[in-house]
Amino acid sequence: NRMKVENNNKEEEKKMIERGEALPIMESFYTLQGEGFYQGHAAYFIRLGGCDVECFWCDVKESWDALAHPVYQIGQIVEDAMSHNGRLAIVTGGEPLMYDCGPLTKALKDNGFQTNIETSGAHPVTGEWDWVCFSPKKFKKPHESIYAAANELKVVIYNRNDFKWAEQYAELVNDDCMLYMQPEWSKSDEMSPLIISYIQENPKWRLSLQTHKFLNIP
Ligand code: SF4
Repeated sequence: NRMKVENNNKEEEKKMIERGEALPIMESFYTLQGEGFYQGHAAYFIRLGGCDVECFWCDVKESWDALAHPVYQIGQIVEDAMSHNGRLAIVTGGEPLMYDCGPLTKALKDNGFQTNIETSGAHPVTGEWDWVCFSPKKFKKPHESIYAAANELKVVIYNRNDFKWAEQYAELVNDDCMLYMQPEWSKSDEMSPLIISYIQENPKWRLSLQTHKFLNIP
């Protein structure tokens, strides 16, 4: 793969990540955003490796071990993103805020990209973002810096108790933050009717569906 850092020295890779020169990339691909506010928009996804949140229902458990993923230099990541027509970059994980996202967002912006992030907020917010999608997880408390930064709160509803839990976060984010509830994929048949009723009663919320999974696109 032409993008990979050209050595296999894990220590050197770690140092490059610490210096903000490179990041572990699990995968990157051009598709349509399937969920939330940007649903339906063409977007280049950059999925960083590494997550310490450990949601038991996580559908990308392969992302958790940061060192299991190839490390790419920032310039190489952006160069690859530029080979597609879209100029919306969505940085996800894993948990992207485990890293200083400043150098990556600067390089993306310098090359004309809009920068979006999908995060659990479990680490301090770094980077310059045009849109922050905050999806809190019960398994690791969010860092307080996420509340002012969030443009979109996306709460995954796994069971009936999660409605109350969602409201706690709706209280913490800014007044203009968009509020979404999204059924956890494996619980969709059970939870979607409850979410629909809940939103009818509480219309400040919107429904987010993982349309990419229904359409079977990445
Ligand atoms: Fe998986 Fe995301 Fe939870 Fe990390 S925060 S365990 S990547 S669902």
